[in-house]
Parts: sequence; structure tokens; C-alpha cells
Amino acid sequence: MTVYDLLTYEIIPQEIPSVFRNCSKCKKATEFYCSERFRVNSNKKIIDVWIIYNCTHCEGTWNFPVLSRVHVNKINSELFYKFMTNDIETIWHYGFQFNHLRRLCNEVNTNIRYELRKERLESKSNNLTIRFNCKYDLELRIDKLLAEILGISRSNLKKLELEGRLTLNPSINMKKKISDNLQVIVRGNF
Ligand SMILES: [Zn+2]
Repeated sequence: MTVYDLLTYEIIPQEIPSVFRNCSKCKKATEFYCSERFRVNSNKKIIDVWIIYNCTHCEGTWNFPVLSRVHVNKINSELFYKFMTNDIETIWHYGFQFNHLRRLCNEVNTNIRYELRKERLESKSNNLTIRFNCKYDLELRIDKLLAEILGISRSNLKKLELEGRLTLNPSINMKKKISDNLQVIVRGNF
């Protein structure tokens, strides 16, 4: 009896995405990196929270709004403490809100370095199963990463899918982005 594998890949980003926007000091669009610090402003119990980004050329500041004019009583005290102490996990959570950042910037750098942490488990199924775990949405294309992992071309990947030997759970297009807990099942040899 052949033993099949259940492979899990945890996708761990190594940096917070940088953004491109106009720098008032440089007087042109430049790249801003995340300082990994919050700025909290309180005025008569009305709170504003930003994450500070800095221009890579002049260190000029851009404040990424996280909370705007919220009454202090409406903010969870645990979360407020995290803002005040520059909690790294909280900063990373906001630093990966691509859609929010895109509305405020010209461009967000999605080409970020990441580590793949692989774990091999034995599977009871008669297929190879690959499961992705990612705490942050890195906007990685499924087919691109899958081709890399399996060591086959994207066109061969497509062929396997058309032959019904490769399925995704949930069933989404392979050109879409990888989401947490996505599973890929491959039947037979490839
Ligand atoms: Zn600048």
C-alpha cells in the first residue's frame, strides 16, 4: 500500500509591504516603508490612530489612518493597549490590509519576501493533499506557487486540472490568490 502525503505549507511574510505615494518633501511619488510604530492622538476622548510610514529617500512621514475620530469608550481596552505599546502583531495585521492601503496610495508592493515552512504528515487519503496556511493575505497566485512546489510548469498544472486530477477546496480559479486553509488535492502521478 502506498502512503500518501499531506503537506502543509505555512506562508510567512518577512516584511510589511511598502507603499508608493507622493512625498511632499521629495515632491514626487516615492516608496514608503513601514516604521512598525503607531501614532496615537487623543483630543477630548476622541482618538485617532495611525501607522507611521517613512519615505525611503528623505525619511518624510506618511500616517496611515487606522482609526479616525473614535470615542475612547468605543475602543476595546486590550486593542488600545496594543496601539500604545506598538504591538507588532497588530501593526502587521493592518500593514497587510491591501485594499485599504490601495485606496490611499498609488501602489502597494505585493512582491514581498516570504518563507515557506513545510510540514509533511501522513494522509489516509489515496491522494497527495497540499494545505496552505497563511495568517496574512500576501496576494500570491495559486498556480504560481503550486507550480513552484510541485516542480511543474503552469501549463502542466492546468492540464492536470482539466483532466480532473487536481482539485481545489474551496473550488476557485487557480489564477486567484491563496487564502488561508486552501487545499489542493492531486490524484495519481504527475
Ligand atoms: Zn521623500
